[in-house]
Amino acid sequence: MREKVFNFLHFLGVPSILRLGKNNTITILSLHRVSTDRDYFFDPINPKLFNELLVYLKKYYEIITFKDISEVMKFNKKPLLILSFDDGYYDFYEYALPILQKHKISANHNIVNECASFNKIIWTQRLNFLFNQSMKNKIDLKFEIDDIKYNLSNFNNNWLKFNLTIFKILLSFDKFKRENIIGTLENNLSIKASDRMMNWEEVKECSKNNIEIGSHTFSHDVVSTIKNNEELLKEIKISKIEIEQRINKPIQVLALPNGQGDSTLDKIVEEAGYDFLLYVNDKINPIISFSNKGLKKVDRLNLINESLSESILRIEMFHQKIRK
Ligand SMILES: [Zn+2]
Repeated sequence: MREKVFNFLHFLGVPSILRLGKNNTITILSLHRVSTDRDYFFDPINPKLFNELLVYLKKYYEIITFKDISEVMKFNKKPLLILSFDDGYYDFYEYALPILQKHKISANHNIVNECASFNKIIWTQRLNFLFNQSMKNKIDLKFEIDDIKYNLSNFNNNWLKFNLTIFKILLSFDKFKRENIIGTLENNLSIKASDRMMNWEEVKECSKNNIEIGSHTFSHDVVSTIKNNEELLKEIKISKIEIEQRINKPIQVLALPNGQGDSTLDKIVEEAGYDFLLYVNDKINPIISFSNKGLKKVDRLNLINESLSESILRIEMFHQKIRK
């Protein structure tokens, strides 16, 4: 039913009407995994959908990267758009890169140092793996956090609500407390995520093939929970220095994990030498916001795996408009 409604809106030409309001803006899409794998809690974009989206975007947008912004700002005929990936999953290299190359489209990808160095699996992915396995194998997944017990029955058997609640609680904890909760469960249930992240060789190859590499912090910790200044510098500044050494190019972009950040970080980010600080807040950027000097804060619109018509309408901000 939902798909039919979006197909009909697409057929009526709603995307082209919405696009009229996009002159003098830059749309920046936030993407993560592109894969044929299915994940109930963090579903990768299907490669087929990704390909169809690129066909659409190429037709109606000027697709650029962050380093091009100052040059193309004045001359664009079509609205501008950037494809911005986070995390550095291997499936980017496997599925997304060949499709981008086929269409001769460049993109931005923000890398986590520890993922590229040690194939570290991001805590959110480990958490989702625990949930996916428990759902699939009917395991009674139980969390005991600060003397409060949580299991599926507390959420009317709604796995998504259960997952979101635990995610939000863990997001407020520091690394050690978070690690302890996830690690204990992994051990007790003998469930451990085994995703593959891009290593530095693959990151370097992306960089040589029109992928603008940026930082997604050193370890993908929740930056708002880091109180130690040295730790913060590692996440932001040391991350940049290492990535630049590894790919032998300067980098300008920092994307904070979980789309988060607050203004207290701006100074550290600017002093580390970044030009762009990326958020995920489902907004688009007026071009004018890129003309001021200093650190530019950038809004991104999160894409999910859904029908092509709904994806297109999401890119054209339909979902925001009906929410108002
Ligand atoms: Zn991330």
